[in-house]
Amino acid sequence: MSFIHRGLAADGGIRVIAADTTDLVADATRRHGTRATAGAALGRTLTGSLLLSHVLLKKPEDRVTVKINGDGPLGGIIAEAGLDGSARGYVAHPHVDPPIRDDGKLNVGAAVGTRGTIEVTRSHAPYGEPFSSAVDLMSGEVAEDVAGYLARSEQIASAVLLGVYFEAETVHTAGGVILQAMPDADPAALTLLEANVKALGALTDSLRERSLIDTMHELTWGLDMHLMTDADKPLPVRYACRCSDEKALEALAYFSLEEREAMIAQDGGAEAVCHWCGETRWVTPEQIRSLGDGTGEVRCPDCQTLWYRPGVTTMVRDGEICSCGRPVELPN
Ligand SMILES: [Zn+2]
Ligand SMILES: [Zn+2]
Repeated sequence: MSFIHRGLAADGGIRVIAADTTDLVADATRRHGTRATAGAALGRTLTGSLLLSHVLLKKPEDRVTVKINGDGPLGGIIAEAGLDGSARGYVAHPHVDPPIRDDGKLNVGAAVGTRGTIEVTRSHAPYGEPFSSAVDLMSGEVAEDVAGYLARSEQIASAVLLGVYFEAETVHTAGGVILQAMPDADPAALTLLEANVKALGALTDSLRERSLIDTMHELTWGLDMHLMTDADKPLPVRYACRCSDEKALEALAYFSLEEREAMIAQDGGAEAVCHWCGETRWVTPEQIRSLGDGTGEVRCPDCQTLWYRPGVTTMVRDGEICSCGRPVELPN
């Protein structure tokens, strides 16, 4: 089981959020068939999004989405998580696996790219407007990029450690820690914290030698850390998607009636693969025809994108710009 522990150190001046995500990252790499480097990048981003949910979110139904848009061959990573402990994510090119670095470590920075942005979105379900903010990547190694985002966009000083250790092509250990400096933190405590982080070295080396809780104590050595979670009852986290038969069918509504009939005629239905979790669903001809015969649909005159379908809440709003560039005009 993957899990999170939380702690407070230096008289409340430092928050510690730590995750062992070995099982969750192994699940993600299996679902997406990633090679080691792509799997490490995805695993770090998934773990980072789970930790960020504890820094940025308040309600159990809120979500945080981390998008890493680097100029490397991975072509982008996205991960989404919430305080309910669920996370999901994918990487554009899961087979990317550049040569390892001189120090024997996976070259995640080269795969992600050192130029680009990290974008973090907070969504407050079900009605709140999502809030997004992006900053430039620091190194493409993910942990530094998350710390850079917290510093520059949220004015939160932190140390972020993220790691995925592979044995051959299998996830052996994965985890992450965010050490968050509160505004009233004692500067001497932060200096000691920085030295502790340096002394620990690679997070996955520590997690292979000692437990997550012992690693948290190691990182806060001399800073009197108290565990806020029950040592025997950490907060469980897991890979979980929110796709459904209904959403798979809804996605088919974006195809024209002619295209939907062609799917039925040629394939006897439609296969829908969820890009978040890799699960395949079969949509039957009866289900496809339940979408109706296209009466009342409004599509873009230029690119045929579905703008509106009766019985469904407006998908595209009046005044928005269609993906082809044409301003959306819906009949009243
Ligand atoms: Zn899914
Ligand atoms: Zn259009």
